[in-house]
Amino acid sequence: MKQTSLLIPTLREAPAEAEARSHQLLLRAGFIRQLAAGIYSYLPLGWRVLRRIQTIVREEMDQAGFQELHLPAMQPAELWERSGRYGAYGAELIRLQDRHERDFVLGPTHEEVITALAASEVNTYRKLPLRLYQIQTKFRDERRPRFGLLRGREFLMKDAYSFDRSWEELDRTYQAVRDAYRRIFTRCGLKFSMVEAEAGAIGGEGETHEFMAPAEIGEDTIVSCMACGYAANLEKAAAAAGERAADEAERQAPAIEKVATPNTRTIEEVSAFLGVPSSHILKTMIYMADDKPVAAVVRGDHEVNENKLAAAIGCVTLELADPQEVLKVTGAPHGYAGPVGHDIPVYLDRDAVLHGGAAAGAGEEHAHLRNVVPFRDFQPAHIGDYRSVQEGDRCPNCGETLHFAKGIEVGHVFKLGTKYSSVLDAGYTDEAGREQTMIMGCYGIGISRLLSAVAEQSPAEQGMCWPLGIAPYSVHLIPVSAQDPDQAAVVDQIAKEFARQGVECLVDDREERPGVKFKDADLIGLPLRIVVGKRAGEGVVEWTDRRAGGRTEVAWQEAARLAA
Ligand code: ATP
Ligand code: MG
Ligand code: MG
Ligand code: MG
Repeated sequence: MKQTSLLIPTLREAPAEAEARSHQLLLRAGFIRQLAAGIYSYLPLGWRVLRRIQTIVREEMDQAGFQELHLPAMQPAELWERSGRYGAYGAELIRLQDRHERDFVLGPTHEEVITALAASEVNTYRKLPLRLYQIQTKFRDERRPRFGLLRGREFLMKDAYSFDRSWEELDRTYQAVRDAYRRIFTRCGLKFSMVEAEAGAIGGEGETHEFMAPAEIGEDTIVSCMACGYAANLEKAAAAAGERAADEAERQAPAIEKVATPNTRTIEEVSAFLGVPSSHILKTMIYMADDKPVAAVVRGDHEVNENKLAAAIGCVTLELADPQEVLKVTGAPHGYAGPVGHDIPVYLDRDAVLHGGAAAGAGEEHAHLRNVVPFRDFQPAHIGDYRSVQEGDRCPNCGETLHFAKGIEVGHVFKLGTKYSSVLDAGYTDEAGREQTMIMGCYGIGISRLLSAVAEQSPAEQGMCWPLGIAPYSVHLIPVSAQDPDQAAVVDQIAKEFARQGVECLVDDREERPGVKFKDADLIGLPLRIVVGKRAGEGVVEWTDRRAGGRTEVAWQEAARLAA
């Protein structure tokens, strides 16, 4: 492909708003342009990378037994009301009306649509298991769209859904997808690790794992142990640590005894006991420790999993700092306090103030409060000191030291179980003629985020160097002077050879100064480079494999052979 015929608007300087290295690189190399916050056009080179990633994803998903389909982005709100997510998804869900004032959403994910499809089209065990995927533009009105394609409001995702007849069958599907993901990320040249995760708002009954790309800019924290291979995201590791600590406390402290529950002690009694108005106490737990009463009070209208809360707070006093407002936690080790109701995690910060969960569950009305971050706005970056797992803590399996690293979530797999199939009536008749509910899994890869994650990981000293598997072209063929007939002849011969061998090559046929050409070539970042210069008359060119570095002078035939 001739560079003169391609739209590659390179920039000398990175625009000031681009903080992340990948964002700067992609803008400067002319791969993407922003239309609005978190909304990007993919220009020809960026789109080529995305297409190559998609090809890899398609090959591996097909191989894992999934069929591709394509689902609507515009979805009736009614469907989301049935799953309970129309309200629960919060401000990230883009809502709109048609001309008849019927409510719609732009899909941030497709569990509802696909489950409804399975419910209407599949009704017998003979059609199961069913494994489907699509590559789609998703819409999420992210509170803080940033870092270019890493957190967009309109972005490309591969999402896949499986419908199985049993949990054992789902286990096998889940394993097949995880294997496929490993191959996908490896082929894309990404450094990644698979970590245990916590099921967030998407919920579900089973396991969940995230695929993380280590990178400083990452908004997630990977907690890992070199010795035994344990790896989890911070929330999961902290929840696990909280549970372990609670188990430990339970074993070591027979003095802690649950003496009252909402059933055995009235809210009025607790209100008097704690000295807070009864209107602010909706659920109570009271424990005795060494004869001192310690209590948990939860304000809000969520169903609270008391065991989880008790375990997580390790029996501390929760009191209303200001009875009108916030739950203040005293005496607690700061850290993650585990999921409470509605899959809403609670965090304690260093000042032992409760974040998320019941405190923020009521939503916006708490947003003005100091130190309270409503859960839906919670970013992993907020966690900072809120962790009950610290770098250097011992590991749950082997007792060796835990290591922390920043990561970008590039993929996520969930065992959903019957969460969606039960409410959307995705049932089938089994061999014995009994009615059963399909067991589901869902699996995402952020295609556009993946492109940025690869760029983010490229070594800083060198400029961009695309992995061969997803590079927009493999080879950059650069005649130093477009006018020189010897150079033109060699370029022609190499290009012919590449055409014969199917090697994708970008020829810089522009009449630019060599400095400009090399600067642009470094920005575009093709992995292989052939410079045709002074010695073109002798058939000698300069060959660089930028993944390894170093330049060598070789006969053009040799360069063509190396590139193929
Ligand atoms: P995050 O924690 O970063 O907000 P998520 O957990 O909300 O991501 P999922 O619902 O698991 O995302 O979606 C599947 C995949 O889609 C993610 O693993 C990620 O790679 C990608 N993704 C999610 N949100 C975005 C976004 N705003 N921009 C680009 N890619 C995204
Ligand atoms: Mg998100
Ligand atoms: Mg996430
Ligand atoms: Mg996720």
